[in-house]
This record gives sequence, C-alpha cells and structure tokens, in this order.
Amino acid sequence: ARGFTGRDDIVKFTGCYHGHSDSLLVEAGSGAATFGNPSSPGVPADFTKHTLLAEYNNIESVRKCFKDSSDIACIIIEPIAGNMGLVPADKEFLAQLRELCDENGALLIFDEVMSGFRASINGAESITGTIPDILTLGKVIGGGMPVGAFGASAKIMAQLSPDGPVYQAGTLSGNPVAMAAGLAALTKLKKNARVMGVLEERGKRLVRGMQEAAKANGINMQIDNRGSMFGFFFNDNEVKNFAHACNSDAKLFAEFHSKMLDAGFYFACSLYETGFISTATTDVMIEDTINASKRIFKEIADAR
Ligand SMILES: *Cc1c(COP(=O)(O)O)cnc(C)c1O
Repeated sequence: ARGFTGRDDIVKFTGCYHGHSDSLLVEAGSGAATFGNPSSPGVPADFTKHTLLAEYNNIESVRKCFKDSSDIACIIIEPIAGNMGLVPADKEFLAQLRELCDENGALLIFDEVMSGFRASINGAESITGTIPDILTLGKVIGGGMPVGAFGASAKIMAQLSPDGPVYQAGTLSGNPVAMAAGLAALTKLKKNARVMGVLEERGKRLVRGMQEAAKANGINMQIDNRGSMFGFFFNDNEVKNFAHACNSDAKLFAEFHSKMLDAGFYFACSLYETGFISTATTDVMIEDTINASKRIFKEIADAR
C-alpha cells in the first residue's frame, strides 16, 4: 500500500493484531487517534510514528486520523476481529471506511489471516458487502502448514517485483509443501462448502445455549459467531471495540474457564481469544458443552 500510494502512514485499530511487523506492533492507547507508541522492545518509535490508531467501529476516530495526516497510505482492519475476542465490524462502519479511503486516495486492507475460510469460504466481503483493495490471508490457507498470502487487483499487484519496484520475496515464498497442503484443504472445503453453514449453526447453538444458561443464573453474556468462529464476553453491554472488551469480567472468565476445564471442556484460555469449532466438533459435543456450562454457571451463582 505504501509503495502503491507513495505515502508513509498507516491507520490501524486498537485491539486488532496484524502480525509482528514493526509498524503494526502498536496496540492499545487511548481511543483517540494518536501517533502510536511501540508495544515491543526493539521496535523504534521512528517506525511506529507512522502508525495512527483509531477505535474499532468508530468512524469519527478514523476521520480524525485523516485530519491529522495527509500522508495515509492505507487503513488496515480485521473486518471480523478475532484478536480482542470476537468483535465483528459493523457493515455500515466498513462501508464508511471504504468511502473514506476512496475520498482520500488511500487503500483499504482487510486482514483475514484469522477469519479467512473460517467465517466464510468467500471472505468477509461476502458477509459485509465491502470490498477491500488488498486482502491478507494465513492460517487456514496453509491447511496446517505455515503460509501467508496477500492479494489485490492486478493494478496493485503489478507494483510488486519483478513487474514493479516494490520488493517482495522470501526463502519459503510459494513453498511447494505448504502450497500443496493449503490447496488440498481448500479444495476439500470448496467441494463440501455447505459444511460452513453446519459449523455456523453449531457455533450459534453453542453460544446461545451458554448465554441462556448464564442468564438463568443472573450472569450477562455477550455472544456472537461467524462461520466456525465464536466468541463470548461476560459483559452487561454490547462489545463493539477493544475498550468494551477490556471492560468484561476477567475474573468471571477465569473462573468459568477453569471450571469448564476441570469438567473436560477446554476453551481458549484468554478472554481476548476467539473460539473455533471444526468438523470434528459434533452436535453431541455442543450439547455436552452447554449442559456443563449450565452446571457451572449454577455453581458460580450459588457460591456468590
Ligand atoms: C495470526 C494473525 C496474524 C499473524 O499471522 P502470522 O502468520 O503469525 O504472521 C495477522 N493477522 C491476524 C488477524 C491474525 O490473526
């Protein structure tokens, strides 16, 4: 995006993770758009000063970035955020990002490293209706092998070497074993595309079942799911951004997590992690998980 636009600044959202590249290792700060500070030793502030932070699902915070800088190359976003728990972006918000990018000559990047082939086989754009300029993928696209991939229109991709001046290469780029594994996984998934709907349905049943069980015991749970991704927060209010996610009841999460683990149900061990189900997760397992959560929420409520 920088090579294509000839600009230096990047807008990213607090709570979104985009790998350990220097410019993107900038995380929580205030919700207001400020120039980012590095969140890891070894990352020079000279790099992260080109990263502007905005608040997820808050278009005003993005507008402020464009007021603060006339050098914005791109907005990068997880359209279905999975690194602050599961927090999908509002459709309207993504459409507004698209507009802002077009008005200002910046590119819109969807980071679907996590959500790719999990939320949908056709990408977040098939769910949200907003089409990015650049798409990044990883994880599932490798079918278990280490791969990262990105794509864009022919015009943008033509900027890459050897066609264009933007250098990009790696020892393991296009690694044949990883490519074969990814191709096999995706071919299988494509042949059996209805499995995505089955997983979505199971995920929905799981979080709804747990939410009802929590509610019956006076505990408020916010839930969501997209395809095989699911998430929950112990929170009285809707979770729309990282600050909201941080406002969740971490102690209750820890208690629930550890009691579920004792009962044989292993959720991701951080309230900021998204849960995934796979084709190995059966209907019976979903019911068993809901039933265990019923017992445990009651136990938690009784002890209060
Ligand atoms: C995991 C993840 C990355 C980083 O991918 P790596 O292959 O570890 O570099 C980037 N973006 C998102 C959204 C991720 O979940």
